[in-house]
Amino acid sequence: MPVVTAPSASAGQRHDWSVADSAELYGLNRWGDPYFAVNARGHVCVQPQGERGGSLDLVDLVQGLEGRNLGLPLLIRFDDILEDRLERLHAAFERAIAQYGYAGRYQGVFPVKCNQQRHVVEELVACGKRWHFGLEAGSKAELLIALSLIDDPEALLICNGYKDQRYIETAILARRLGRQPVVVIEQADEVERIIAASRELGAAPFIGIRAKLSSRSTGRWGSSVGEKAKFGLSIPDVLATVEALRAAGLLDDLRLLHFHVGSQINDIAVLKDALQEAGQIYVELTKLGAPMGFLDVGGGLGIDYDGSRTASAASTNYSLQNYANDVVATVRECCEPHGVPVPTLVSESGRALASHFSVLVFNVLGSGSVLGGGCAAGGGAAGGAADEPLIVRNLRETLGAITALGAGDPDSLARLQEAWNDAIKFKDDALAAFRLGYLNLPQRAAAEQLTWACAEAIVARLPQDGSPQNGPVPDELKALQAALAGTYYANLSVFRSAPDTWAIEQLFPVMPIHRLNERPTQLGHFADLTCDSDGKLARFVGNGQVKPLLELHALRPGEPYLIGLFLGGAYQEVMGNLHNLFGSTNAVHIRLTSGGGYRLDHVVRGNTNAEVLEAMEHDPELLLERLRLASEAAIGRGDLRISDARRLMDHLETSLRQTTYLQN
Ligand SMILES: *Cc1c(COP(=O)(O)O)cnc(C)c1O
Repeated sequence: MPVVTAPSASAGQRHDWSVADSAELYGLNRWGDPYFAVNARGHVCVQPQGERGGSLDLVDLVQGLEGRNLGLPLLIRFDDILEDRLERLHAAFERAIAQYGYAGRYQGVFPVKCNQQRHVVEELVACGKRWHFGLEAGSKAELLIALSLIDDPEALLICNGYKDQRYIETAILARRLGRQPVVVIEQADEVERIIAASRELGAAPFIGIRAKLSSRSTGRWGSSVGEKAKFGLSIPDVLATVEALRAAGLLDDLRLLHFHVGSQINDIAVLKDALQEAGQIYVELTKLGAPMGFLDVGGGLGIDYDGSRTASAASTNYSLQNYANDVVATVRECCEPHGVPVPTLVSESGRALASHFSVLVFNVLGSGSVLGGGCAAGGGAAGGAADEPLIVRNLRETLGAITALGAGDPDSLARLQEAWNDAIKFKDDALAAFRLGYLNLPQRAAAEQLTWACAEAIVARLPQDGSPQNGPVPDELKALQAALAGTYYANLSVFRSAPDTWAIEQLFPVMPIHRLNERPTQLGHFADLTCDSDGKLARFVGNGQVKPLLELHALRPGEPYLIGLFLGGAYQEVMGNLHNLFGSTNAVHIRLTSGGGYRLDHVVRGNTNAEVLEAMEHDPELLLERLRLASEAAIGRGDLRISDARRLMDHLETSLRQTTYLQN
């Protein structure tokens, strides 16, 4: 991983840095378009309707919400963005259908597993009505959500996942409610259960078949296709299923072919191969006598998290329009030569619909670095007591030599390297002397502080990238920048709010949401509240690369420092866990109003401490009662004053009612 160049240490002034520089630095124009930008005040602003609507200042919004007692960390859901994504998806397919003269339609579904939150699914169903947008369920609980929320007889309800008899019978009976469930056969043995249930009930569901494609795939979810894939029927199984349905008189209900090549397809070539293969299977199924009518291309439509427009893991080498064009054109090419009518195209695009609409905002509680409280105790190059041990004095003189180096010195790089070699040697000597009892604790502290002061002075004197007068900077010196980088303590649990950053090294754009008119002078990463060294954010969007450190601002005493994590609307909430008993954050739903303001549609309070304790089967009242008894005993022994006992119980009772995060 390349180490980023630290911003020049001498440049802290505001006038040499513009909001455009920040937009470029954090890649906002690449991954944020058209929803996120920087305004003239140096704040991130949100255009929830893209280019077509108004803009909200994210910092003002957070302040307004904090004023309503909705503390950070805060998940802000922009329902306008969700609607806009739906519109864009449908517009892309409509354009492609017109361009290729496709004689069929597009009719999408939302895979509920991507974000099952009630207000999210309800919003999608309500906004999607005009296109008969449906839902995809992968379990009985998701099926229940889908069945009860969709009341449009034309909307599809795709039933995926493992299915038992009850799941199948539920789907069959739901047809009588005027719903349109399609039971997709994912495992070879499901056909027998469908046949049995249909006989039992005297009615059949719409039936789909999920094919296991042999096309290659790539990326994190590449194993979703191929002979070893968890789901789907092999071609021999497809044939056997068709014959079983025919024998049971159910072939007329076989309407849909489904495939899914895995989430976040990075390379459009993978999709094209899969589409060709699936298109041919579709044609063959119609030749076998199935009425068909629907081709479901699954999920996989990717998100350009790093804004690089490449086939890298955090990006895609295609646009939404390219995707729609390829689906439409390829399916047409498969059907036409055989005189097979083109199917209604279905996609189960989850990530592509739900990623943009939610923004997680958290505050920084403090920062720390190896420099600690600066060099006060070290005393700088000139300090030091008369009786200072030689080892410490050597380090002090090395620091003096570095600070005396002029920037224009032609040998400066060689001399900086030499000075760093000396500093490392003296530091090792100091550690050895401490172990042997020749240095006391304050002297060892001075040695460490002086070593890091040397490193800081060296970094400040390194040439900037692209400056002409110097040769390449030695790797060892470049690495010093990373070693000096700060840790910013975030009021957040990554296990709860961005679990994929930890579980599968997913990259999300992370950046300060204010002070963007100031040059960031620090490099740092984030450590979260959990007592787990994996609880950190240390992979950031670079210019087409992943960088381990992010450019950040020095904290100002008494002033909040607010960070946004973007594009996390898909999968993160449900995958999040209660590690260290940090629960869900407060969440709100925001809609733009015509006056240029916003409306707070829903408030979903974060888990309280009592709730997360109950989730682990603890009884908060019982825990309190035990502590009450313990304080009575302590009062009796004379170890605790009554007023302090009351204060203690107050804190405990109040904490139980509050969210699990730290308060300002
Ligand atoms: C997970 C899943 C999806 C959603 O995939 P995205 O990449 O988020 O669009 C769609 N269909 C099936 C069968 C899935 O398992």
